[in-house]
Amino acid sequence: MSYLRTNKVQLAAIFVLAGLLAVLAIVQYRWLGQISEWERERMERSIEFATRVMLAEFDGELAELYRTLQIDFREEGSPAEQLAARYAERVNTLEGPDPLERIYLVTINEDPGLVIEEFTGTALMPLDEWPPVLAHLEKQFAGTLKRNNDQFEYLVGPPPLQDDIPALVIQQVQNRPRNTLSSGPRSISWIIVKLDRDVLLGEFIPALADRYIYGEGQVSYNVGVLDEEGPQALLWASDPTLTAASFVEPDDRRGIYSLRRWDFNLRNLYQRRMWSVVEENTESRWSLVTKHQAGSLEAAVTRARNRSLGLSLGVLLLLAGSILMIVVSTRRAQNLAEQQMEFVAGVSHELRTPLSVIRAAAENLADNVVHDPDRTRQYGQLIDREGRRLSDMVERVLLFAKIRSGQDHFERMPVDLAGVIDEAIAANSSLISDQQVTVERDVAEPLPVVNGDAQALTSALQNLLSNAIKYSHRGGVVRLRARGAMGSGGPVVQVTIRDEGAGIPAAELPHVFEPFFRGERARKAQIQGSGLGLSLVKQVIEAHDGSVSLESSANRGSSFTVEIPVAKG
Ligand code: ADP
Repeated sequence: MSYLRTNKVQLAAIFVLAGLLAVLAIVQYRWLGQISEWERERMERSIEFATRVMLAEFDGELAELYRTLQIDFREEGSPAEQLAARYAERVNTLEGPDPLERIYLVTINEDPGLVIEEFTGTALMPLDEWPPVLAHLEKQFAGTLKRNNDQFEYLVGPPPLQDDIPALVIQQVQNRPRNTLSSGPRSISWIIVKLDRDVLLGEFIPALADRYIYGEGQVSYNVGVLDEEGPQALLWASDPTLTAASFVEPDDRRGIYSLRRWDFNLRNLYQRRMWSVVEENTESRWSLVTKHQAGSLEAAVTRARNRSLGLSLGVLLLLAGSILMIVVSTRRAQNLAEQQMEFVAGVSHELRTPLSVIRAAAENLADNVVHDPDRTRQYGQLIDREGRRLSDMVERVLLFAKIRSGQDHFERMPVDLAGVIDEAIAANSSLISDQQVTVERDVAEPLPVVNGDAQALTSALQNLLSNAIKYSHRGGVVRLRARGAMGSGGPVVQVTIRDEGAGIPAAELPHVFEPFFRGERARKAQIQGSGLGLSLVKQVIEAHDGSVSLESSANRGSSFTVEIPVAKG
């Protein structure tokens, strides 16, 4: 009853623990999902911020160039002087790599038309021919001139951003457009700032990436500049082994190399007619792309999430395993305790019967109740038999305890099993005569010698024989057959003890070798025994590398076969 209750409590505790573990697993799974979602958003935001800042710096530099080199030619000084002053100021305040390569002044006069001069740093030097890199621009200017010859004041130059050269075209501030009646021949000019592609891509952008992307701790990103339409798609990448394909489906993509309206103040925009020139979206074909080195930001987050999931799952599994182990070992301890209880109960019960017989006989003798010498001899035999049974039982229990505690050091000596069989029969002689059973001994002598502990083997065979006699019908036959034979692992000596008794019901067959197991019939008919015999037989035989097998059917008798390997050499 108390075991049952403990079992129930234990079962309930296991269920509660398992439930808690499951809940914990679900909560952890959800929580990790939530955390990685936040992490993804945080990473997205921070890389977006880093690229935005980098972009603002890059485009700001262009705007700065534009503002610096946009000159109001109505002010004092020749264009060359004004340019020289602005240029000197820029050179003085410059920090870091300078993408500016050359400066040209393009002027469209009413007459003689299109003129190009190169700025040397201090002076303007007229050029006879346009530099080849500017050929495309020259065509655009010529086109402008042709189209607008009659409406000079509305001349509009090429777009300010020329990313294929790359260059900036800066419209200069001239006469007010309506003020055409004022002085002299009219002219309108532009400054072309030719940028150094190598410095721009090889120094300027890397410096910005270092400062704003890697400096911001976004070290696990690849950064690149792509020309979205050009033949050579990847203009620059943070790692030279990368190709345009490395930036397919980037985590962040933004147009770079543009003029942003917010980089000019309103005065600039109105006074200098820039409103129409600087469009908010005058973006080039270049774009700044970032992609996480894990393949994508999503992949990086998923990978981190899977790692955490694996880790916490491992911890939970460990926990579950520990719980399982605790349960198993508690179970074992419980079973052991139960067995011990049964053992004590069983042994005490078995000791009680012979003890009470001995005591009764001894009392009778002591009280001088018995006078007949024949009766006295009978009493003596009774005491002897019961005493023998007692010592048998004590031997059995001791052997069992020894085997159980792992101290079963059986001797290994050459043993002739024929002798062992004879001793086992002799030890059972009183049982044989009590039961009026005939034991047929069929031993193929000489038997091969086996290695083992003669005493332990005798007790094993004696147990099997006494079972066969005990569970036989009165006057029955027990056949004991021993042969040398071929076992599965080599030559063996095979001993079979067959009876024609009540047999073992099929339901009991799997249990007969368990310690303390007693068949229902044995218990009901009060056949003497402790339930230890077969368990001892099995352990002794297995300790000799042998095996015990059993064939039995109810009402037709049983047959136990022992096989012990023949001694080698
Ligand atoms: P016990 O002390 O009860 O004989 P054993 O371990 O020797 O204990 O046997 C366990 C049970 O196996 C017995 O109680 C009995 O039910 C059954 N058994 C063993 N040998 C035989 C046999 N030869 N014939 C029928 N039943 C047997």
